[in-house]
Amino acid sequence: MAAIDQGTTSTRCLVFDRQGRLVALTQEQHSQHYPRPGWVEHDAAEIWRLVCRLLPEALRTAAIDPSEIVSLGLTNQRETVVVWDRLTGEPVTPAIVWQDTRTGPLLPAIAEELDATVIHARTGLPLATYFTGPKLRWILENDESLRERAETGELLFGTMDTWLLWNLTGGPRGGVHATDVSNASRTMLMDLRTLQWDDELLAVMRVPRRALPEIRPTMGAHGVTTAPVAGIPVGAVIGDQQASLFGQTAFESGEAKCTFGTGTFMLLNTGDQPVLSRHGLVTTVAHQMEGEPTVYALEGSVAVAGALVEWCRESLGLIRSPAEIETLAASVDDNGGCFVVPAFAGLYAPHWESRAQGIVAGLTAYITKGHIARAVLEAVALQTQEVLAAMNNDADLPLLSVAVDGGMTSNNLLMQTVADVLDVPVVRPMMAETVALGAAYAAGLAVGYWSDQQVLRRQWHRAAEWHPMIDPQRRAQMLQQWSRAIELSVAWGR
Ligand code: ADP
Repeated sequence: MAAIDQGTTSTRCLVFDRQGRLVALTQEQHSQHYPRPGWVEHDAAEIWRLVCRLLPEALRTAAIDPSEIVSLGLTNQRETVVVWDRLTGEPVTPAIVWQDTRTGPLLPAIAEELDATVIHARTGLPLATYFTGPKLRWILENDESLRERAETGELLFGTMDTWLLWNLTGGPRGGVHATDVSNASRTMLMDLRTLQWDDELLAVMRVPRRALPEIRPTMGAHGVTTAPVAGIPVGAVIGDQQASLFGQTAFESGEAKCTFGTGTFMLLNTGDQPVLSRHGLVTTVAHQMEGEPTVYALEGSVAVAGALVEWCRESLGLIRSPAEIETLAASVDDNGGCFVVPAFAGLYAPHWESRAQGIVAGLTAYITKGHIARAVLEAVALQTQEVLAAMNNDADLPLLSVAVDGGMTSNNLLMQTVADVLDVPVVRPMMAETVALGAAYAAGLAVGYWSDQQVLRRQWHRAAEWHPMIDPQRRAQMLQQWSRAIELSVAWGR
C-alpha cells in the first residue's frame, strides 16, 4: 500500500505492508510564502514536483515495483485552494493556504448575502477565513480576467487533493477532476447532508459550477496513475485530519483523536449523523465508503500549534530545531506568570474570532527564554483544553482519554502538559504517521486488501501514555489566566 501525505509544511510518500508497518518514507518541505501580514501562500507546481520526486524514491527505497502497489491513498492539507489552467496544467495564482486571513474583510459582505447561521446549518462550518469558499471569492473578485476565464471553462478549481489527483491521473491529457466528501465538507460550498455543491453557496462565493470538481466518496475507484509512476490505482482521497482519525482506527461513534502538527485538530466520530455544534466546533464529513452511509465528525480546529514552535525558531531565533523547545522549556519550573496566545490566523475553535491578534501577557524582568518556551508549550495544551471542553459540552459522553499523533507528540514535556491541562490520560500509538496510515487503510479497505476494520484495529499498538499529575488548584489557576489572555487577544484585534 502506498500513501501520499501532502501536509502544510511538507510532503511525504510512504509504503506500508499488510500489518500496517512502515516500509519506506520519503519527505521534503516546500516553501512557505508570506507576502503580506496574514497572507500564507504555497506554490502548487512546486508541490506537484515534490510528489514527482518523492513517490518514485519511496518505491525505490521499498525495493518494489509500482505494479506491486495494490492501491494508493491520497491525503492532504485541507481548505487550501488551487486554481489552474485546464489546458496547460499550470496554476494561475498562488495557492491560498488555509491559515491565510486575507478574506477577513469579505466575511461581513458574505453574511449580508447569506446569514452565518444558515451557512452553519447547511455546511457545518462557522463563517471564518479558514475555509475555501471565501478564498475563491477573493481570487475571482481580485482578478477580473480569472473570473472570465473561470466562467468560460478555461480554469479548474480544487483543494490540494484535487490538484494532485488530476496530475497523478493524466493532468491536461484527461486527469480525473474530483474531490472526496471529507475535503469537500471543508469548502463551505457543499451541503453536508446532500453531499452536493449547493447553488446558493456557489452564488454567494461567486463560484461557477463548471470549474468545480466532482464530489466522490472517500473510498472508491478514483482513477489510475499515469505520473510520476504509471499504473497505481487510487483507492482513497481523504483530508489529513479525517485520515488521522481513520489511522487511529477511531471507526466508532464516540471515538476521538487529537493531532499536534502545524495546528491542533481534535476530531470526534459522531457516526452517520452530522451533529451541529452549539459550542464552536466544526461539523465535518469523516469519510464515506462507496455505497455505505457517510460517517461524520465534530472537529475542534486550532490554527497554530507547531507553527508557534516554527515561529520561535525562524522568526525569533529562540531555538535551532523544534525539539530544542523542550530542553529550553525544561530549564525552568513553570511559566513565571507568562502566557502566549498565538492568534496568528485569528482564533479558530471554539472562538472563531477572525480579528484576534497574538499577545504575550505577564511580561516582567524575571521572564527568560525558558519561561517563554514553557508558555509556548502551555499555549498548545490550553488551546486543546478549550476544544475538549467544547466537545464534552456538545457530546453525550465526556471523553475519558485522548489518542494523539503528529510531529509535536515526540515532545514529552508537551504531552505531559496536555495530560495535565486536559485532565485526562493521553495515549500515543506506535505508528506516528497516522495521517498517511489512515489514507493507506482507507485505500486498502476500498480494494479489499484488508477485509474489514477489525483487522486494522488489531494493528493499533500503544507506545506511550501520560497521566495528569498537576495540582488541581494550579490547573484551575492556569485555565483562568488563559481565558483572561484570550479576552485580551480578542480585544486587541478589535
Ligand atoms: P504538518 O503535517 O502539519 O506539516 P507535522 O505533524 O509534520 O505537521 O508536525 C510538524 C510540526 O511539529 C512543526 O510545526 C514543528 O515545529 C513541530 N514539532 C516537531 N517536533 C517538535 C518537538 N519535538 N517539539 C515541539 N514541536 C515540534
